[in-house]
Amino acid sequence: MAARRLMESSEHIVLLGHTGPDGDAMGSTLAMWHVLKQMGKDAQVVYPDAYPGFFRWMPGVGESTVYKSMKEKVREIIEKADLLLCLDFNTPSRAGQIEEDIERSGARKMLLDHHLYPTKDWTLCISVPEASSTCELVYRLLVTAGMEDRLTRDVARCIYTGMMTDTGNFTYSCNDKELYYIIADLMERGIDKEQIYRDVNCNNCESRLRLTGYLLSEKMRLYPETGAAITSLSLTEKQTYKYQKGDTEGYVNKPMEIEGIFVSAFVSEDADKIKVSLRSQGDFAVNEIAEDLFGGGGHKNAAGGESYTETLEEVVSRLEAALPSYVESYRKQETEKTYSR
Ligand code: 5GP
Ligand code: MN
Repeated sequence: MAARRLMESSEHIVLLGHTGPDGDAMGSTLAMWHVLKQMGKDAQVVYPDAYPGFFRWMPGVGESTVYKSMKEKVREIIEKADLLLCLDFNTPSRAGQIEEDIERSGARKMLLDHHLYPTKDWTLCISVPEASSTCELVYRLLVTAGMEDRLTRDVARCIYTGMMTDTGNFTYSCNDKELYYIIADLMERGIDKEQIYRDVNCNNCESRLRLTGYLLSEKMRLYPETGAAITSLSLTEKQTYKYQKGDTEGYVNKPMEIEGIFVSAFVSEDADKIKVSLRSQGDFAVNEIAEDLFGGGGHKNAAGGESYTETLEEVVSRLEAALPSYVESYRKQETEKTYSR
């Protein structure tokens, strides 16, 4: 199998995750890191920026390197590498400031990912948009490559974490029954599902919960006719609630718990940019909106983008103005589909 051969024939392997690493980026890189270590490789996990505190328990995370705080070290690691393994992102630009180092590197480059439209310049590109998570693909790759014996308890814990977080604790993108055979196998290998759920979701500080409360009671704007919700958060508000990276992770799904709301946007002010997260239910595709309005992308039901030139208010206004027409043309299409049946 090509992926196995690529790994076996490399010595210095760098595992890369995307900016703002989530459970799937963390789980897939760390799972593969454990596997490569078992194979006797010099393997290093690199993240473009800090990961949220609720992933601090993950096995192996202490040996990873964050580019933002150790730029020179990361440069050296990448320069020395003979294989770059990019996990859970589809284009080098999703690795933030590491993009240039990836492009410049003479190492072989392998992609393992589940986002639509991967870029082309890979030695090996395994892109499966139907997969629930990159972690699911890590599991499948190990099994297909005859490397089941590498699926230790720690590898299984990492894989389960990404499968759990990318499906909202198995509430969306989770209707493939095979996922549950995989989970059963991971349980055979010693994972404690309940513990992983608690480690990720029940280690919050008070201010994070209060921030969620504030967003819901004060900041969530509803547009019932459009079926949309937009929530924004400024830097000043982040300071008030002692915001830490990851504190608003998952918030964007909340407004869709309201009957009739099927698209939700969360707009967050960072020091250098405005970050937009979009979520939807059903066939309403938010990756197109992310692409059109913010040069971003993602999946049908979960996408995002960034703006470097506008204020928070300007981004919100642009969304407010644009969403109704997207919803209108979606409804039109749906109606046509019904009549053509
Ligand atoms: P989140 O809203 O959790 O940051 O991102 C959800 C999904 O949207 C990600 O898995 C990723 O596919 C996509 N996404 C988020 N931000 C960006 C972006 O700036 N550019 C692109 N191309 N995709 C993004
Ligand atoms: Mn993912």
